[in-house]
Amino acid sequence: MRALLFSLACFLSFGTNAQLDFTKISDSSVVFTTYQVYKDVRYSSHGLLKITSGGVVMIDTPWDTTQFQPLLDSIDRMFHKKVLMVLSTHWHEDRTAGLDYYKNKGIKTYSTYTTKNLCKENHFPQAEYTFEGDTTFTIYNTVFETFYPGAGHTSDNIVVYFPKDKILVGGCFIKSVEAEDLGNLSDANIGMWPIAVKTLIKKYPKVKIVIPGHQKIDGKSALKHTLKLAKKHYKGRKQDKKKAKH
Ligand SMILES: [Zn+2]
Repeated sequence: MRALLFSLACFLSFGTNAQLDFTKISDSSVVFTTYQVYKDVRYSSHGLLKITSGGVVMIDTPWDTTQFQPLLDSIDRMFHKKVLMVLSTHWHEDRTAGLDYYKNKGIKTYSTYTTKNLCKENHFPQAEYTFEGDTTFTIYNTVFETFYPGAGHTSDNIVVYFPKDKILVGGCFIKSVEAEDLGNLSDANIGMWPIAVKTLIKKYPKVKIVIPGHQKIDGKSALKHTLKLAKKHYKGRKQDKKKAKH
């Protein structure tokens, strides 16, 4: 694993102040990263490009809205393939911002039915196509599955697993080893998050690379780190409640 991560190929393309990075994590998988400032701190935000024999599958859209087209241009340049579909893993902007843009480019956009409804309620771009429950997609030579581990970062957060190369896109449900806390909790379910992470760890024991929504990608250590953060936060909240009662 260590060797693989050290051999990551990085391509950078800088705009005026925008940045779009690419990190190859397997023969057919490339993470794309854009950046935004949240509460005065600049955060990276990751999505995945899966290169199938017939085109590219994009998991989550860029967070930086200036990078929708540069991403398509880079994909065209690097892989000489079109994007076939985009799938968003929850309703927040860092996953869905580009859905309308890509739909207008003729790309099929997907999310769960629950995510689409939450996007609608919150006036965010929505996917054109929806699915319900854990779903397996077969796109040319590539198979992947979506899994809902339970509520955590949001009530609708799903993950995407590619069984052939054992890559798990955790989205914002999974925190990077670099994260010191659970991040934006405005729509989080603190009570369920630790249980949901345990469910996810059990579901994919063979996973090799886990891609968190933000910050550093480091093998699969993000899973245990997320569980630690979620448990710590849950305990802290319980203690606060106890104190409030006395
Ligand atoms: Zn996020």
